[in-house]
Amino acid sequence: MPDYGHFIGGKHVAGTSGRHADLFWPMTGEVAGSVALASAAEVRAAVENARDAQRDWATVNPQRRARVFMKFLELIHRDMEPLATLLAHEHGKTVADAKGDIQRGYEVVEFVMGVPHLMKGEFTDGAGPDIDAYSIRQPLGVTAGITPFNFPAMIPMWKFAPAIACGNSFILKPSERDPGVPMRLAELMIEAGLPAGVLNVVNGDKEAVDALLDDPDVKAIGFVGSTPIAEYIYGRGASKGKRVHAFGGAKNHMVIMPDADMDKTVDALIGAGYGSAGQRCMAISVAVPVGAGTADKLMEKLVPRVEALKIGPSTDASADYGPMITQAAVDKARMYIESGIAEGATLAVDGRGFKMQGYEKGFYLGSCLFDNVTEDMRIYKEEIFAPVLSVLRAKSYDEALRLCNDHEYGNGVAIFTRDGDAARDFVSKVQVGMVGVNVPIPTPLAYYSFGGWKRSVFGDLNQHGPDAIRFYTKSKNVTARWPSGVKEGAEFSMPTM
Ligand code: NAD
Repeated sequence: MPDYGHFIGGKHVAGTSGRHADLFWPMTGEVAGSVALASAAEVRAAVENARDAQRDWATVNPQRRARVFMKFLELIHRDMEPLATLLAHEHGKTVADAKGDIQRGYEVVEFVMGVPHLMKGEFTDGAGPDIDAYSIRQPLGVTAGITPFNFPAMIPMWKFAPAIACGNSFILKPSERDPGVPMRLAELMIEAGLPAGVLNVVNGDKEAVDALLDDPDVKAIGFVGSTPIAEYIYGRGASKGKRVHAFGGAKNHMVIMPDADMDKTVDALIGAGYGSAGQRCMAISVAVPVGAGTADKLMEKLVPRVEALKIGPSTDASADYGPMITQAAVDKARMYIESGIAEGATLAVDGRGFKMQGYEKGFYLGSCLFDNVTEDMRIYKEEIFAPVLSVLRAKSYDEALRLCNDHEYGNGVAIFTRDGDAARDFVSKVQVGMVGVNVPIPTPLAYYSFGGWKRSVFGDLNQHGPDAIRFYTKSKNVTARWPSGVKEGAEFSMPTM
């Protein structure tokens, strides 16, 4: 059974705080190891190590930094099977889905191989008489990332790859629920040639996070997780003068217009709603059919598909989705299902009785589908993060658009239609950061930036893509004149060119 400590200075070190958490395998529900929870002193030691390592790393030219990522990518491909298997065991998602988690992470690694180009500054030759003006981008120093359980490969890579490529060192505080893959990624970075200390992993909970937020040597924090914690991280980190971007929760709507191809729409909805047991920040959790006829047609096709979903252990290649992350997550989802029934929604598919034969202690929840959900219900207002999909019937396109815009979250959204005019209007007016047109999970590709709006994000600049290069560097502007015939004469008025 693994007993994870920390990964500091290029090697595994045991935790010394005396605190640890049990690690479960969701598919069996059994304790499968433990993870150390760092003290503030252990975090400080990791920061000092990363601070010292960063000084030399920043002097390595960008092409050589990029080559470490080229090698790292090779190693990920070499180790794809064991990485995906470990991820599936610790998280609960299927092995095939775990490979997707790893791939969406390494696509950002592929992007940052272009860092010599991405970090190039600007230059104006002859901005004034004998004057050149230019800007350069420089690393910040020690940076840190605090990541959630639901993408234990992808989100750590989204964070550390651009930070390190830009010449920073990085401290990763992964979720304490599935730290195995993040630890393994750090080992692979060292094997790829990264100098020890440039990527340290500190396992822990609030104590470790607070120590990172308060540490004066940590210059930037990238967070992904639930909205209350994102808001807290942003407030506390920014008050300490750090650069912080914190990505939070979601309630992603899919608007279904009367002219949508219903078979294709249901295919898209079922995967986006129930894949990974609904534990994706870009999962569709609310379907909004427009018009009573559309809603009836949707339910007629959707109900049998939801009833037929195959739930299985993470190792079952034929399963549509696996267990949830913890028993507490299952209990919370059950609480929401009870509240939906109590508030008058129709539970059209009831998965509460589902039991996984042979895995009775596993953290499974059968697929649930609510119809006739209304705006005032808790199951509509709050993020459930489970295989529970709500259908809210809208009378018109305007009402559907208003619902998307009025919701406090604004991470992802989709419209399904054959009407280019409706789609164009929706894209223009919807108050959500990532929009799909006949695409259910519009997660931007690695060379674009990822981020929601409203209470799905706190701070500025999004993740990966060009924004990440800006986030992990500071720009310096230089105005230079080399003397030639201007050896005398002070200037007292504001210089203009
Ligand atoms: P979480 O907020 O519980 O935990 C995220 C991280 O914060 C973990 O590393 C955890 O150890 C730490 N943390 C937890 N409580 C803390 C506290 N009180 N003080 C300081 N640190 C604390 O989130 P989770 O359950 O791991 O992940 C699921 C959530 O993440 C969902 O809300 C989901 O929507 C969101 N998410 C958002 C995005 C996005 O890009 N917007 C992506 C993935 C997941």
